[in-house]
Amino acid sequence: MDKNRIHEQYEMTDELHEECGVFGMYDFDGNDVTSTIYYGLFALQHRGQESCGIAVSDTIGPKGKVHSYKGMGLVNEVFTPEALDGMKGDIGIGHVRYSTAGSSTRENAQPLVLNYVKGTLALAHNGNLINAPELRRELEYTGAIFQTTIDSEVIAYHIARERLNCGSVEKAVARAMKKIKGAYSLVVMSPRKLIGARDPHGFKPLCIGKRENAYIIASETCALETVGAEFVRDVLPGEIVTITPDGIESDTSMCIPGNKEARCIFEYIYFARPDSHIDGISVYYSRIQAGRYLAMDHPVEADLVVGVPESGNAAALGYAMESGIPYGTAFVKNGYVGRTFIKPKQSNRESSVRVKLNVLAEAVKGKRVIMIDDSIVRGTTSDRIISMLKEAGATEVHVRISSPPFLYPCYFGTDIPDREQLIAYNRSVEDIRKILGADSLGYLGVDRLCGIVKSKPCCHGCFTGEYPMDPPECDIRGEYTR
Ligand code: SF4
Repeated sequence: MDKNRIHEQYEMTDELHEECGVFGMYDFDGNDVTSTIYYGLFALQHRGQESCGIAVSDTIGPKGKVHSYKGMGLVNEVFTPEALDGMKGDIGIGHVRYSTAGSSTRENAQPLVLNYVKGTLALAHNGNLINAPELRRELEYTGAIFQTTIDSEVIAYHIARERLNCGSVEKAVARAMKKIKGAYSLVVMSPRKLIGARDPHGFKPLCIGKRENAYIIASETCALETVGAEFVRDVLPGEIVTITPDGIESDTSMCIPGNKEARCIFEYIYFARPDSHIDGISVYYSRIQAGRYLAMDHPVEADLVVGVPESGNAAALGYAMESGIPYGTAFVKNGYVGRTFIKPKQSNRESSVRVKLNVLAEAVKGKRVIMIDDSIVRGTTSDRIISMLKEAGATEVHVRISSPPFLYPCYFGTDIPDREQLIAYNRSVEDIRKILGADSLGYLGVDRLCGIVKSKPCCHGCFTGEYPMDPPECDIRGEYTR
């Protein structure tokens, strides 16, 4: 497919999205947790910008009375002071969402709140189940009526059903985990307990924090720092943690051998914030290391190394440190392009890329530039950026990518498009270089992935096609509504 066709077809959207971020808190002194959850979600906004929600409850009030509020938009758009005023509780959970399964509607926003015979249950989920359609069908044939089209409701239903046959919510979570397959990091609120659970492969991150007499469970450590909490530890892949005033109880019965774990390596390369640590590894370090490897494996003579903001910046710094070529800033990003941004039409002179990103001509004019980006999906943004650098006077543009080429889909919560839409599918690096108009192009090698995460077992299925579990027979990605 030629370059112009690709642009027409995909309207210059070339970013990958994380599915969600979760945050939960239980304050044993009875203080209200709503505003802390709000700020925690704010710190996790990069993980999902379509919808968000908070559910809080009072452990000393009537058992199971939950206040919840959710809506479409960014955290500061949905939670007006009036919306927050009506919410109060000493235990609560929150969620930010980008939809990769289930359509983008208010009903599909989370947390989900279920009222059932044992009281109430609220749940927020990050990840994608690969057996949700079968499980949902099974539940429907036994009378379940679903309110949403998201796989998270399948999890909530299973937990509620299992709770009827066992002595505690955490046991019900463990039983549900035996049935669900795929990627999930969960926070669950029952009237008197805050529970966190991570799937046995540990695809998505989840960590525990503490602030005075309150515990927090969050997708990323950056959210702990934002709310002034100290990091306690990561939730282990496969672990269920139950937080009550008696402390943290851990159930590791679902954990698998360490070498079978499969963290999503794209969290380190792109999704997570650089100030987060996941399973003991600094995301910033991983990106610096990826840049260093690029400099070792794809050296080139040049005057300046620049990163495509934000996630290309740390890798660019790593490249500069390793190569000795000066690091600089070439782009100014407009940080105010939100969900409601209207994409320019093809006929307009503006392009989405130009609206989001401008080049600092003074920095690049007359220079041979090495441009580091975290990934190329369809290539529709990269070629625009390269042209912009050249129009601004860069004499050469050498592109280095801090991940291997995308060749396969993801079934675990990342919206990687079909293979035919991936620029690297059926093309050599030289073919891609020509399409992009770069003077040279180099990707991070698959053999380097291990080094950027200090040999922690990770999933790299979208680069190699080798998944940690069998992919579903039919493609369950995208729209889950039937
Ligand atoms: S396939 Fe790729 S994006 Fe999906 S979980 Fe694995 S590493 Fe992450």
